[in-house]
Amino acid sequence: MRAIHLLPVGDVKHELIVDLKNRLQITFHADALILNSGFDARQFYDEQRGQYNSTSIIRYLKETTGGHVGKRSKAYLAITSHDLFIPILTYVFGEAELAGGVAVASYYRLQNELYGLQPDKQLLIDRLTKEAIHELGHAFGLVHCQTQECVMHTSTYVEDIDLKTDAFCRVCSTLLKNYR
Ligand SMILES: [Zn+2]
Ligand SMILES: [Zn+2]
Repeated sequence: MRAIHLLPVGDVKHELIVDLKNRLQITFHADALILNSGFDARQFYDEQRGQYNSTSIIRYLKETTGGHVGKRSKAYLAITSHDLFIPILTYVFGEAELAGGVAVASYYRLQNELYGLQPDKQLLIDRLTKEAIHELGHAFGLVHCQTQECVMHTSTYVEDIDLKTDAFCRVCSTLLKNYR
């Protein structure tokens, strides 16, 4: 059985991470657990950009957890409310090391409030779930998928996330089963 370890980074809403954990267990047929040893996000903060460096978080996760060892059966996913960036992009929703067992997902830009809309708890958890599944898909070895509805379809804007489902298409699903 696969194992997914969730690490809150900074101030993450507890009920959000519990909902996420339950949904990840179902999607990946995995044991998911929330690690209390969440880490301090300040070390990843970039003062000039006012954002957090997602690649540094990935590197830190890799160093402290070792990622998965040998087979693709275990992954660490950091969850944060902070805005993430990589140097060449304005922002990212998340990042993962391909087949490396480590990933990070942010819900900062998944919140309606950021776009001047009413808060929507259900929509937020739906979006975060898709983003988390997408990054974990990478962490377990999947690349981007051309199928529009597939959770491995790439997303640039929050609307792109709303257009896809939280499920793997048949091709990605088969690949994922073989990556063990
Ligand atoms: Zn991706
Ligand atoms: Zn797919």
